Parts: sequence; structure tokens; C-alpha cells
Amino acid sequence: MLLAHFNVSADKSFIQSEAEAHFSSNPALDSTQQYVYLSFDDGPLFGTSNCIDICLNENTKATFFQIGFHQSRSQWGKRLYQRIIDRPDLFLLTNHSFSHTYGDYLKFYHQPDSALEDFKQAAVVLNTKNNIVRLPGNNGWRTATVQSSSKLVRPLVHKLDSAGFNVVGWDVEWRFTSKGRPIQTPERMAFMVDSMFEQDKNRTKNHLVVLMHDHMFRRTEDSLKLVQFIQYLKSKKQYQFALLDRYPGLKN
Ligand SMILES: [Zn+2]
Repeated sequence: MLLAHFNVSADKSFIQSEAEAHFSSNPALDSTQQYVYLSFDDGPLFGTSNCIDICLNENTKATFFQIGFHQSRSQWGKRLYQRIIDRPDLFLLTNHSFSHTYGDYLKFYHQPDSALEDFKQAAVVLNTKNNIVRLPGNNGWRTATVQSSSKLVRPLVHKLDSAGFNVVGWDVEWRFTSKGRPIQTPERMAFMVDSMFEQDKNRTKNHLVVLMHDHMFRRTEDSLKLVQFIQYLKSKKQYQFALLDRYPGLKN
């Protein structure tokens, strides 16, 4: 009995020291701040290197939802992928499926078992170190605290949740034209971000996820818009950039 008691105490102190170690390298989020999670989807693609360069230059954290197929089909894609995983202090690499449905969204979401396998395949190919996924072409959410999904994607979202994945969508999207160029101006994007916080419209209070796509920033003039948007956000002292693995309410 004494021995059993000793073991329990020993385990507890081990857990405590693990937790302390975790918080010292990853400080707890400050509840007086507002957090912005920049995310770039669909890479590696043309535009990915500009997104990486800009975030490096601005020393700004960003999460890259990559597609397994895009990463695995060329050495060029693998090099871009490597540039992201080489900077875990600034970048987080997350799973945006292997196939991105190969362009057939209805078929993909109507076959949730094979869609789940598609995400698992991407996790292997991308060698992801977290359980965060984003659905192709759909703003579905499933974490411990945020649940939001359309009827089409719900069967897959349930399966991803049961398999231990967090499904994370976005609060604000920087949309693009049919030619893949940014629609809103950086000023308009900044206004949208401010408004979401002011009107308390984010999925999680004081936490805002921005969706962008790598390919929007392949041209120099469009890359400058990304720089302007980031610099505006940096000028607002209450905004902190964070990686999506720090988003509140994720399942372990
Ligand atoms: Zn996508």
C-alpha cells in the first residue's frame, strides 16, 4: 500500500515537472492580448517561397497547411517544405489532406472513410508533428471547444475527430480572383480583422484565424500587399502572432 502511494506521488511530481517544462518553453497565452493566426493553404506552390521570405523578414509567425501531393511530387516542393520545417520557432506545418479532393469535393466528402485515409496519408508524407487538419474548400471546425460543420462534411469531421485530429477552419479569408490574385486591399483586410475583434465575432474570443493561399502572393506587387497587411497588424500593439498549435481548446 505504501509502495503504491509512493508511486502515485512520484508520477504526479513527474507530470508537474513536465508541465512546468512545457510552459517555460511555451508561455501560457496572455488573456489581455488578442491573437492573430496567419495561415497559408495549398502549398508547396508558386508563391510559397514569397510567403516564407516575407514572414522571415517580418519575423512573423505563420502556419502552413500543406497538401501531401504537392509536397511529394517534386524536389522543388520538398525544398519549400523543408524551409518551413527548418524554422519551428516561426512556422508550423499542418495537414491539408493528400489529394485536396483531386478537384471532386462531392465525391471526397461522400466517401468519409477514404477521405480519412487521405488525411492519414498526408500526415505520413508531410511527417506532421501535430494533429491539426483543415478541410479542402470548407470552413469546418472540430476542436474540444469549437464545433461547426456543414451536412456535407460532417461524417468526415466525426471520423477525423474520432481519429484524434483537430479540424481548424478560419475566421477571416483573404479571397482571390479567378486568376489567383488578392481581392481585398491590405487596408480592407486590416479593417476586417479589427472589426472581428471589436464585434467579438471570432470562433474563440480574442483569437482570430486568417486564411490566405500561397499562390496569391507569387507576383511581386501582390507580395507587397501581404507585407503591408502584416505591418499593419504589427503596428497594433495588442495583436500577437501565434502558431495554430497554441490555439485554445485543441485536443491533445
Ligand atoms: Zn485548400
